[in-house]
Amino acid sequence: MATLYVVDVTGQGQARIPSVPECLFCRIVSGGVPASRVLESPRTLSFRDISPQAPTHVLVIPKVHYPDLAALAAADGSLLTELINQAAEVARAEGISSSGYRVVFNTGADAGQAVPHVHAHVLGGRALSWPPG
Ligand code: AMP
Ligand code: ZN
Repeated sequence: MATLYVVDVTGQGQARIPSVPECLFCRIVSGGVPASRVLESPRTLSFRDISPQAPTHVLVIPKVHYPDLAALAAADGSLLTELINQAAEVARAEGISSSGYRVVFNTGADAGQAVPHVHAHVLGGRALSWPPG
């Protein structure tokens, strides 16, 4: 089990974990792992998925570490709003706002979440089938 370094506590008593050293996406935020950056906002970072599933496939993450959507939503609703707004901004920057796009938060094993640092997938640039596999 990894050691988590808790260095701040929010007003709601929720532990906030800025960075987990062995987390891939925390290392992208710190610059230790390279990524193709698309956009940045004060508390989020957007970069291209290394294995794109559509012409546009960008990941939007909070710069601080939360393991999944539920943890982020419970701890910091304003950061979740910033993340969603940034996903829409990515769609505008990629030119897919009008054609349409999908925003996905894979959460847990059945959804296939592979990286336990909450991230929104922004997918577009082609017709996307529904339901997902
Ligand atoms: P999920 O399955 O929802 O956890 O999505 C994790 C995503 O991270 C996958 O789509 C991977 O292709 C992507 N990914 C893994 N490593 C990297 C990396 N170094 N840079 C960019 N995307 C990555
Ligand atoms: Zn992380």
